[in-house]
Amino acid sequence: MSRKRISAPALAAAGQSPLTALSGVGPAVAAKLTERGLGTLQDLWLHLPRSYEDRTCITPLALLRNGMSAQVEGQVVAVERSFRGRPMLKVAIEDDSGGPLVLRFFHFRAAQVAQFAHGVRVRVFGTAKLGPTGLEIVHPSYRVLALGEEPGLGQTLDPVYPLVDGVGPATVRKLVGQALDRLPAEAELDIVPPAWLAQLGLPSLRSALLTVHRPEADTDLAALAAGRHPAIARLAIEELLAHHLSLRRQRIALQQHAAPALDGSGDGVARLLAALPFQLTGAQQRVFAQIADDLARPQPMLRLVQGDVGSGKTVVAALAAMLAVQAGFQVALAAPTELLAEQHLHNLRGWLEPLGVSVCWLAGKVTGKARAATLAAIADGSAQVVVGTHALMQDSVVFHDLALAIVDEQHRFGVHQRLALRDKGARPGSVPHQLVMTATPIPRTLAMSEYADLDVSAIDELPPGRTPVQTIVLSNSRRDELVERIRHACAQGRQAYWVCTLIEENEELQASAAESIHAQLAASLPELQVALVHGRMKPADKQAAMATFKAGDTHLLVATTVIEVGVDVPNASLMVIENAERLGLAQLHQLRGRVGRGSAASSCVLFYQGPLSMMAKSRLATMRDTHDGFVIAEKDLELRGPGELLGTRQTGVALFRIADLARDAHLLPAVHELAERLLQGHPALVERVISRWIGSAVRYAAA
Ligand code: ADP
Ligand code: MG
Repeated sequence: MSRKRISAPALAAAGQSPLTALSGVGPAVAAKLTERGLGTLQDLWLHLPRSYEDRTCITPLALLRNGMSAQVEGQVVAVERSFRGRPMLKVAIEDDSGGPLVLRFFHFRAAQVAQFAHGVRVRVFGTAKLGPTGLEIVHPSYRVLALGEEPGLGQTLDPVYPLVDGVGPATVRKLVGQALDRLPAEAELDIVPPAWLAQLGLPSLRSALLTVHRPEADTDLAALAAGRHPAIARLAIEELLAHHLSLRRQRIALQQHAAPALDGSGDGVARLLAALPFQLTGAQQRVFAQIADDLARPQPMLRLVQGDVGSGKTVVAALAAMLAVQAGFQVALAAPTELLAEQHLHNLRGWLEPLGVSVCWLAGKVTGKARAATLAAIADGSAQVVVGTHALMQDSVVFHDLALAIVDEQHRFGVHQRLALRDKGARPGSVPHQLVMTATPIPRTLAMSEYADLDVSAIDELPPGRTPVQTIVLSNSRRDELVERIRHACAQGRQAYWVCTLIEENEELQASAAESIHAQLAASLPELQVALVHGRMKPADKQAAMATFKAGDTHLLVATTVIEVGVDVPNASLMVIENAERLGLAQLHQLRGRVGRGSAASSCVLFYQGPLSMMAKSRLATMRDTHDGFVIAEKDLELRGPGELLGTRQTGVALFRIADLARDAHLLPAVHELAERLLQGHPALVERVISRWIGSAVRYAAA
């Protein structure tokens, strides 16, 4: 791509000037700032204060209260230095209204002591605390006033910025101030037509930035702090817009590629449907029809299928796979854990192999000769459907003719991994269709913003005959009762899971917790078969444990959250989740989805370690009261923020500088409308918005 040369003034208007343009920024300071992501003027504009100090007025000492941050002015009435223990300087001041207020210093120089002569006036800013002898301020910022000096008051509140390692707060403040002094005029700075934003009650960008950095004394600080102020909304909406546009642009770029048109001729789908032991639900039929429709086109499909746990996504994926296979192409299906991938392998083999389709397996643990043979089969096309884990995305995996890449639980992969798989299909100018499945229902608002590059289908109906899971919230102190309950249930031929959870993503700790609980339960329930499965076990042992449980030969399966996704044992009708209060709602919902798969009435015990916080109580109550994955996801978004839902917490990607999807969800409809208007009428502005907020480093390694 050729890059137009950009003039210095244009750079400045775009805020892209380097910080060395500011006075007082040498290479060392610049390096420290860059480390913190502050590399340009614009970065400083967007380095928002974390709080403010009000120096716009002087508070009479008589009105000063414990805990108040204020500016005061008074005369020195007493000075005391002591060296007991450690050096200390106490300066008492009074004003006409009252006093005294003690200024207390633990670090000071002799010259400082000399300043505080009796009768001298000082202006002080700090937070008053109740000390041993009344109100005091420890290490205030202060200024000794010359005779008759009346320094003016601040016109606006003083910003306090988040700390930058290695750069003093005063320097940061000064530099942001300088950067703001170089803010271009309104018309130059606004990219989105200001009238559109004014319709939403939002100010110009310039005015928003000035409000945030230098609020007037009467600004609603609580609204600013909570991000509810129009000035913050103005920044957030443009950032959300930039991300949305970037995803839309990726989508548009993708559509420039060709993909194999899988027109559905052949009887594979009909034969598969006929062989299934069940009828598709209406929702499955509808979603499969949407997929078939997409696949028939010569452009790549990019579709997200959302379906609650147990809604039957796998069979829809199998049908889609069949469309590709009968047209002579290959299919890849990737799942984030080995256990889940194995379940898929098992299901797809069961459905497809009787119809003459070869289904092969590739995971990290497939090594040596087996791996070489699998890779060869993938490369020569004899492997028609390839199921596996991350291993599928490695460079060594080369497909003969991949037409459909299916990714399950994509939020547990990164988007870049999805793209890596997609790129495996690339014949010149052609990419495979992509089908993404998730059982973590993504709230609609979030789906619209984070998945703007995907079409979304929902399997919003469960197969018939499922009985809703009864959820019980139970304190850990009633463990014995619970164990009896399990003894009783298993005596009646039911099977149960006991899920050990730890908040750490540390498999080792999880495994050892599970091992000790397994030992305890095996001891208290000697008449039952109690098995164990965790992530540190050998795959063969894990499979054996799962297989005997599935066959009904074990009563109780003690497991870590490895069973969270994909495990399907319809006869298991009881689940205990330890430390339920520590898990996210989406994860609890996933786990709970492992029961209630058969016709027996099922229950799920959320076993908690009291006492519970209000928040934890409300979360567990949500779990008890609803089974609707969407309601649960909305609640999770509200309580925990989007990082959890989108899996960005694990990948450590900070999504936004200013926007907060939970807080700003109400802006999204406006974001979409603005995006539409820009894409339709002002394509040149689209690029500018994206490059302002996202820059050339396109978030997901480019489309
Ligand atoms: P998920 O959407 O959670 O991945 P699965 O695809 O694992 O759900 O399906 C859950 C279970 O329901 C599986 O045992 C599957 O065979 C079964 N199933 C799927 N569709 C139907 C249907 N239409 N009728 C009855 N059972 C079904
Ligand atoms: Mg599934």
